[in-house]
Amino acid sequence: MKILTAEFIRSCAGPEQFLKGDLPEIAFIGRSNVGKSSLINSLLQRKGLAKVSRTPGKTRLVNLFQITSDDPGLAHFVLVDLPGYGYARVSKAMRSQWAPLIEQYLDGNDQLRAVVVLVESRVLSEQDHQTIAWLSSVGRSPIVVATKVDKLKMSERVGALRRLYEWLELDEGDGIIAYSAVTGEGRERLWAALKERIRT
Ligand code: GDP
Repeated sequence: MKILTAEFIRSCAGPEQFLKGDLPEIAFIGRSNVGKSSLINSLLQRKGLAKVSRTPGKTRLVNLFQITSDDPGLAHFVLVDLPGYGYARVSKAMRSQWAPLIEQYLDGNDQLRAVVVLVESRVLSEQDHQTIAWLSSVGRSPIVVATKVDKLKMSERVGALRRLYEWLELDEGDGIIAYSAVTGEGRERLWAALKERIRT
C-alpha cells in the first residue's frame, strides 16, 4: 500500500467545521504521548505530517487530513486526528473540553468507518479502559493498537499483550494490533483492519 498524497485539510474546534462530504473517515485517538503522531507518520510514511496536529493551539482540536493511496480499497479517505486525553494533572479540565468535542465528532457521523484507539504496550490505564468501553457502548467498537512494541523483549510480549487484552476487557475475537513506529511492525495488519472496516 502506497500513499500517493497526504494533505492537511483543517483543524476543527466545533461541529460546523467537520466535513460533510462523502469520503470515508478513519479516526485516531489515545492518551497524550502514546505515540499517535509517530504512528500516523509511520502509517502514511510521511515524516512531518502529524506535526501539524501538535503545533500550539491545535492539540485540543480535531485535525483532518485528506489521503489518497494506490490501493483501490482505500483510494481516497480522511484521516482524523482526535485530541489526546489524559494529562494526569489537568485530567478533569481536559475531560470537560475533550469529551464534548469528541462526542460531537462521533455523533451521527455516517462517514466514520473506524476509530483506532492507541494504547501503550506496557501501560494499563484506566482512561484507556474507559475510552474503549465508552466507544463500544455508543456503537463505535474500536480497533485497538498497542504502540511502542519494540520496547518489549520478545520474552515479555505475549504476557504484556495478554495483560492489556484482559485489562481493556476486549471482546473475544477482537485482537490487539502490536505496532512499532520504529520498525514498522504492525503497519500491514493495521491497513488490513482498516480496509476491512471500509469494505463493510
Ligand atoms: P503523541 O503525543 O501521542 O503524538 O506521541 P508521539 O508520537 O509524539 O510519541 C511520544 C514519544 O514516544 C516520543 O518520544 C516518540 O519518539 C516515542 N515513540 C512513539 N512511537 C514509538 C515507537 O513505536 N517506539 C518507540 N521506541 N518509541 C516511540
